[in-house]
Amino acid sequence: MTLSLAPAGAHRIVVVGGGAGGLELATKLGDKFGRKDRALVTLVDRSRTHLWKPLLHEVAAGSMNMHEHQLDYLAQARWHRFAFAQGALAGLDREAREVVVAAVADDEGQEILPERRIGYDTLVVAIGSESNDFNTPGVREHAFTLDNTWQAHLFHRRLVNACFRANYANEGEIISIAIVGAGATGVELAAELHNTIRVLAGYGLRNFDPAKQIRIAIVEAGPRVLAGLPDHVAEGTLKVLTEELGVEVLVNEKVVEVNAGGLRTASGREVRGTFVVWAAGIRCAEVLKDLGGLETNRINQLVVKDTLQATRDDDIFAIGDCAAAPWKEGRNVPPRAQSAHQMASHVVKSIARRLAGKPPPAPYRYRDFGSLVSLGNYDTIGQLMGFISSEKFRVEGWIARFVYISLYRQHIWALHGFWRMALDTASRWIRRQVDPKVKLH
Ligand SMILES: Cc1cc2nc3c(=O)[nH]c(=O)nc-3n(C[C@H](O)[C@H](O)[C@H](O)COP(=O)(O)OP(=O)(O)OC[C@H]3O[C@@H](n4cnc5c(N)ncnc54)[C@H](O)[C@@H]3O)c2cc1C
Repeated sequence: MTLSLAPAGAHRIVVVGGGAGGLELATKLGDKFGRKDRALVTLVDRSRTHLWKPLLHEVAAGSMNMHEHQLDYLAQARWHRFAFAQGALAGLDREAREVVVAAVADDEGQEILPERRIGYDTLVVAIGSESNDFNTPGVREHAFTLDNTWQAHLFHRRLVNACFRANYANEGEIISIAIVGAGATGVELAAELHNTIRVLAGYGLRNFDPAKQIRIAIVEAGPRVLAGLPDHVAEGTLKVLTEELGVEVLVNEKVVEVNAGGLRTASGREVRGTFVVWAAGIRCAEVLKDLGGLETNRINQLVVKDTLQATRDDDIFAIGDCAAAPWKEGRNVPPRAQSAHQMASHVVKSIARRLAGKPPPAPYRYRDFGSLVSLGNYDTIGQLMGFISSEKFRVEGWIARFVYISLYRQHIWALHGFWRMALDTASRWIRRQVDPKVKLH
């Protein structure tokens, strides 16, 4: 079935993937062009709701209730004058200028929506990335990933169940959590878990002592934590993790197998894991490999020019984690929320130029504003870049925490505008005073 909801002559813009980049893009395009019927903007996502991905480790640890932060695509579409189509990207017919959207089924396997084809004049692919298991045996069967809200939620539920079980049995059972990958996701998850499990134990788990019964280990193939971030951030983070939180950090240990009891590394070391969380590296979905004959790289990212247009098709843009966009010294723009946000803003301008008949779009320049690592309640450490020069500032403590939190607030601002963001911030602060400090189920 081919869908075309566009008023005659309106430019059809399809954004596939409503994440950190795609949802901001569809919202801005809808506001700018949808209201005046200058273009029909359609957002396609496999899910019905959006949650900003950098929050997933908080969902996994239980410090965030995902139900309070999820945004319904249909509501956002109505407020911002774009159309929403649920379904996973299944293919691309560049000749007919149609994206193929897979059928959607319910939990019982009953089809809700059939496979559809959606016509476009401009297509933006923004389907993000997933964790890269490097074909390591056992990861799919035995490890959790933080690729989507469901995985994060499932991990949290199983962890809470394990704590309840250990409390009831009262036999001093040890719950071990092995996190693979000492990137920002891995270290942030470790710190968040250390805190939330202690808070959880305070809600009536009298026979459960996290200090004795919880073991957290991070296993990293590289020589240090937080590869790619400045030395002082890595050193500060390592100190907090090992000296204050008692997290075991193993470096130069490449995981070669995950099994029901934990994992094994190339050096033959066995690490116990009641739970194994895989947070090492990214790659993009298989559907991108040879999508309509577009160029992709070894991790299936779509290769784009500095304008963010696909190398083989000027009508197709890619943004966010799924785009291999040139940056500097032969490197690509890093897969981060701030890149996805910047790319979305850039593509809005590029599409405005297209609609005004002013090709070609200007090149996109990634602006690195620095990196922050949140160690939950314990510390936030990072480095920020100067706004005027490329000077770098070390930040730590509450200033760093404030900037870290403001990144999510910026996303909410981009989606809802300043006043709604301000109200949302205030209402969340009030709720935090009356709700339990962690999610208990
Ligand atoms: C736990 C965690 C913590 C992180 N912390 C930070 C941080 O502190 N700072 C930072 O800058 N970055 C962080 N990141 C990275 C950041 O989340 C990503 O770089 C960013 O979300 C990328 O945005 P995106 O729009 O490309 O993709 P996403 O935000 O991942 O969105 C992709 C969207 O596409 C949809 N989708 C996927 N496949 C399909 C398909 N086949 N068809 C249709 N729709 C599809 C998904 O449902 C999703 O809505 C973190 C990531 C994780 C996992």
